[in-house]
Amino acid sequence: TPAPAGARRVVLKLSGEVFGGGAVGVDPNVVRGMARQIAAVVRRGVQVAVVVGGGNFFRGAELSRAGMDRSRADYMGMLGTVMNCLALQDFLEKEGIDTRVQSAITMAQVAEPYIPRRAIRHLEKGRVVIFGAGAGLPYFSTDTVAAQRALEIHAHTVLMSKNGVDGVYTADPRTDPTARKLDHLTFAEALLQGLRVVDQTAFSLCQENALPMLVFGAEGEDNVARALSGERIGTLITA
Ligand code: UDP
Repeated sequence: TPAPAGARRVVLKLSGEVFGGGAVGVDPNVVRGMARQIAAVVRRGVQVAVVVGGGNFFRGAELSRAGMDRSRADYMGMLGTVMNCLALQDFLEKEGIDTRVQSAITMAQVAEPYIPRRAIRHLEKGRVVIFGAGAGLPYFSTDTVAAQRALEIHAHTVLMSKNGVDGVYTADPRTDPTARKLDHLTFAEALLQGLRVVDQTAFSLCQENALPMLVFGAEGEDNVARALSGERIGTLITA
């Protein structure tokens, strides 16, 4: 079921970096702040699903470069995302928001399995759905999963929050002083330029299915709330 006219339904990607506040593990103060922003928007009637990253614990590609088997390392990465999900769930419930965690890897004690139609029902009831364990598939990233989940639950937009950067630039703003922030670009341009701020598979999925993507900075008191509310902060990418 698509979201009814008037109700905004979005998927928010939160990277592991957001949860760790730059360190390994979970920083409760950061997660609390994030939960407050999400809760405020949900109370105003926006349907919010969150796809959670896990880079604050493990990244499969990094462990694999250090000698681990890639698939096993990726499963470790996916399991890390579930810990972030539980942290976000806890702080959202403290804000009085009902939540459900849905995991792509079965873990009945801590999460429901990923069932798209049930996820939609939760959203319609005002619950926040938190998607964990990525796609359940090695060699994928949670950016790609955010695009896929947004398509499957008929979200209007996928919101890619980033740490340390507040949108898409013409070049790497950390190394190139001439880099300019872009307000808008197309997926074709993002793919052609080989932009790495979001992974290319996510761009392709959105391009093929004409799903708008907003890339924005997670830092700041209310950036996440503003993006969830539909403000065009950051960079909008469309087909
Ligand atoms: N991962 C995976 N399949 C997925 C999603 C994630 O194998 O569908 C693994 C992968 O190893 C990845 C790690 O989980 O490095 C953490 O996810 P990601 O890097 O996307 O998190 P983020 O960078 O957003 O914190």
